[in-house]
Amino acid sequence: MNLKAGKNLVGAFYQPRLVLCDLDALKTLPRREYVSGLGEVVKYGIIYDAVLFSQLERNLPKLLARDENSLRDVVARCCEIKAEVVGQDETESGLRAILNFGHTIGHAIENSSGYGKFLHGEAIAIGQVAAAKLSQKVLGLSSGEAARIEKLFSQSGLPVKLKLTAAQRKKLFGAMLLDKKVSGGEVKFVLAEKLGRVKFGCCVASEMIDAVI
Ligand SMILES: [Zn+2]
Repeated sequence: MNLKAGKNLVGAFYQPRLVLCDLDALKTLPRREYVSGLGEVVKYGIIYDAVLFSQLERNLPKLLARDENSLRDVVARCCEIKAEVVGQDETESGLRAILNFGHTIGHAIENSSGYGKFLHGEAIAIGQVAAAKLSQKVLGLSSGEAARIEKLFSQSGLPVKLKLTAAQRKKLFGAMLLDKKVSGGEVKFVLAEKLGRVKFGCCVASEMIDAVI
């Protein structure tokens, strides 16, 4: 549950018996909401599956047109990845953290702009592009792969950058320190070594974060 202080701060862990995805429901969404969902889809490619990422690059026009066959494959693969990750770590103590790629900055963007300005997928698209830049500095992600990440988000129609005033920047950093992934004042990030492989719990200095937002 979301609280005023931040998103996803209250919760319980009960696993579903069944996951049902009705692809027709996706066709009823306004384009902006639909594209926002792609922000999470691209994430699965980055964190777990480089083949999925390449498929998304190739099939983006079809996906944007909500082509049923492409959607079925992609939605099924994203569910599989989530089930694999969560199945190995039900209580978010370890591996499950990789699902938060791009979310440390993304949640801070949503929170500091007063929920509603950015849709979740838009905020985490910006967060993932920033995380890719941090990944270059911290884990040596190649500039080619970082560029592919940015390009896939922008070609999907998602924002990849923020224009901030000094006051907005300060607010955003304040929100980031409220995040549940912060411990002892250090901000912990999920960062990518390469497409399909990430590491969690990477401590990043705030000056470095400042340089990529
Ligand atoms: Zn999310």
